[in-house]
Amino acid sequence: MQRSLAALITLALCVIAAPAFTQGPPGDRVILITLDGARVEEVFGGLDPAAFTSTLRKGQTLEEQPAYSRFWADTPQARREKMMPFFWRTLMVRHGSIAGDKAAGSSVTLTNTHRFSYPGYSEILLGEAHDDTIKSNDPLRNPYVTVLEELKARLGLPPAGVAVFGSWNVFDAIVEHTSGALTVNAGYEAFEHPDPKVRELSAMQFQTPTPWDSVRHDVYTFRLAMAHLQSARPRVMYIALGETDDWAHDGRYDRVLETYARTDSYLEELWTWLQSQPDYRDRTHILITTDHGRGSTVAEWRNHGAKVEGAQDVWMAFVSPAMSRRGEWRDHPPIQTNQAAATLAGWMGVDWNSLRPAAGKPIR
Ligand SMILES: [Zn+2]
Repeated sequence: MQRSLAALITLALCVIAAPAFTQGPPGDRVILITLDGARVEEVFGGLDPAAFTSTLRKGQTLEEQPAYSRFWADTPQARREKMMPFFWRTLMVRHGSIAGDKAAGSSVTLTNTHRFSYPGYSEILLGEAHDDTIKSNDPLRNPYVTVLEELKARLGLPPAGVAVFGSWNVFDAIVEHTSGALTVNAGYEAFEHPDPKVRELSAMQFQTPTPWDSVRHDVYTFRLAMAHLQSARPRVMYIALGETDDWAHDGRYDRVLETYARTDSYLEELWTWLQSQPDYRDRTHILITTDHGRGSTVAEWRNHGAKVEGAQDVWMAFVSPAMSRRGEWRDHPPIQTNQAAATLAGWMGVDWNSLRPAAGKPIR
C-alpha cells in the first residue's frame, strides 16, 4: 500500500513536471528567415544555365561541372526541386505558399529604391522604406524601433525570448533601435551557452574564415540559432542567412546553388524539430524572404543596387497555421516587402498599422 502510494506520488510529480519541462511559455511563435540576395530566377527556376556559363573559363563546359550534374534538369520546376527538394516538394505542398513567380502572375517587389541589404532588411523589419535616412550598409544603429523590439514589448518577453542570429555582422545594428533589447548574435561573434558542445561550435566559427570579413558561414548561424531555439525556446526568432549573396558577388555560381541546397536542409531540420515539440507544433508562423533580388541578365546576375534591373523583384514564402493557401500564389494583387512587418506582427496578435499607419498591410 505504501509502495503503491509512493508510486502514485512519483507518477503525479512526473505528470506535473513533464509539461513544465517540454513546453515553453504559452502562445503562438513566429520565425522570420531571410536568404540574402536570393534571386527569383533561382528560387523559382533553379539552375540558370546562362548565369552558370558566364562563370566558366575558356575551354570549360557546363556539362563537366559537378554542380551542373547535381542540379540540372529539363524544366524550371524540376530544377528548383533538385536545388531545394524539401522546400518545393514538402513545405510548399503541404504546409505553406510562396509569392513572387512572375510566370504564375505573381509579383513581390521592394518599395525602397536602393536595392541593397540594410534598406531591404530595414523595410522588412519596419514595414516602411526610409530611403533618405537608411541608405548605406554601414553598421549604423537603426533610427527606428523594429517589429522585433515591438513584439518583445507587447508580448512581455525576456531578451532571450526574441532572438536574432545573422551571418552578416551589420545585423547587430539593423534589428535593434535600442542596443541590448534582444538576443542578437551576428557576424563572427562568440555565443555564450551552457552546453560545452555549443561553445565549441561558437569557437569554430573563428577557425573557419570565409572570403568575407563581415560574413561568417551560414552553418554557424543556423546551428547557433537551433541551439538557442532548443534551450531558450524563444517566441520570436529571426534567422538571417547570407551566403547566397556573397558567393554570387564572387561569381561562384556553383557555390550559390550549393548554398540553396544546404539552406533547404536547414529548413527541413528546423521544420522537423518544430513539429516534434508540443509548444511549437502547429502554432509557429514562418515567413521566408530576401532583402533584394539581383540583376536579371547574364551581365548583371552577380550585382544588385538602385540601377540594376531585376534587383527590385523578390519573393515571399509563408508557413502559418493562419493561412490555408498552398503552393504558388497565382494572379493576385501585387505584394510588397513593406507588408512583412505587419504580417509578422499580425500573426502574434499585434496590429502594426495602428503603430505605423504608413506601413504596408498584413498579407493574409
Ligand atoms: Zn550583396
